Amino acid sequence: MEEHSIVESVLDNLPVAVFAKDSTSSFRFVLWNKKQEEVTTIRATKALGRNDYDLFAQESADYFRSVDEAVIKRGKLMKVPEEIIETENGREVHLRTVKIPVHDKETGRLLVVGISEDITEQVKSREQLEQLNRHLLATNKELQETQMQLIQAEKLESIGRLAAGVAHEVKNPLALLLLGVDYLSHGVDPDDANVDTILQQMRGAVDRADRIVRGLVDFSSQRALSREATELSRVLDEVLLLTKHELTRSNTQVTVKIEDDLPMVFLDMSKFEQVLINLIINAVHAMADASARQLTIRARAESLEDVAKNEGARTREVFRRGDRVVILEIIDTGCGIAPSDTGRLFDPFFTTKATGLGTGLGLSVARRIVELHGGQLTLRNRARQRGAIARLTLPTKPGTGKVRTKPNSAEELKMPKEIDTSGA
Ligand code: ADP
Repeated sequence: MEEHSIVESVLDNLPVAVFAKDSTSSFRFVLWNKKQEEVTTIRATKALGRNDYDLFAQESADYFRSVDEAVIKRGKLMKVPEEIIETENGREVHLRTVKIPVHDKETGRLLVVGISEDITEQVKSREQLEQLNRHLLATNKELQETQMQLIQAEKLESIGRLAAGVAHEVKNPLALLLLGVDYLSHGVDPDDANVDTILQQMRGAVDRADRIVRGLVDFSSQRALSREATELSRVLDEVLLLTKHELTRSNTQVTVKIEDDLPMVFLDMSKFEQVLINLIINAVHAMADASARQLTIRARAESLEDVAKNEGARTREVFRRGDRVVILEIIDTGCGIAPSDTGRLFDPFFTTKATGLGTGLGLSVARRIVELHGGQLTLRNRARQRGAIARLTLPTKPGTGKVRTKPNSAEELKMPKEIDTSGA
């Protein structure tokens, strides 16, 4: 075989499109291999001797020409990351091309040699992946919105349960106010030593009523989750105020033990109150038939090494070793959990309560809220005594305890970051 035909045969068997244009003769094509025929659907017999303007649309030809001229001017290889040509049958072909200036010593011509890789399939897959990712993000957002609606619905349920108690708590200060008004309506004697005391009691009553009504209003507000450094004892005070009536009515003894110098936790007050109210009401329900109703709420700080020994792999995945966490436990002396129910407590709609008393959503919503806080919630029987223990593990730094969610994995894929975490 002659050398010329060997080169031709090699060129025709290459998996990339190869062409060459003569810059000294209006960039006419002097080389057009088989793959180039395939990619452009233009036969070599038609292309050779013609230029881009004879073969492609004006806009494309202008662009090709500008690159060719730049290659000649710079005298070195140029990469064109993505070119699109429209073939005669209307198909769009995406090409990744390198263009090299070549000096043909024999003829003295200055050629622009192009080597193009057909990346149409890659581009299509990328577009499909992007579309899939957009769909995933939209679905994720929808899911987050649904979760927030579910959280709000479950909150309304709690408010319904608390309303009677709250009304009762407001009734006492109102009665006190009425007494004061009665006393003062007979005229105020500046020498009466009682007036000061009565006015002070009235102010105290207004403050108490105001605090409980405000607490309920804050609790019922529907906002996106926003975490901030919070003292756990402050949240507990609010929660105990809102549940005071349930606790007194059920004759439940409450003991609160909070370790000194407990680190701040990063919480959304209103959402977290919802979790605690739920756990407390559950404990009260569980103690309905108990002879001694004792509710213990205790909180302490631990470092992750201590937690990892007691908890499953899930905690280790959520927190990093050495993280400082706050452990909050709500311990009751109730009926405890039947072995057959252990695995189902956090399932949505799982309830052992009579119709009207429970929806079975409390724990599943509470766990989701805690996970959104980067924490963990478990419920199990006490080891040696009657009753159950709800345990919350909470991060003490804003960055720790990140929950692994779908958007993160999309980020790992280096997809566009349109993730809306405002509702998260
Ligand atoms: P609900 O309170 O509406 O039933 P939850 O999801 O809050 O829904 O609770 C699901 C179930 O978990 C309850 O019906 C009860 O059987 C069980 N449970 C929850 N808390 C306790 C507890 N402190 N002690 C014993 N069982 C509990």
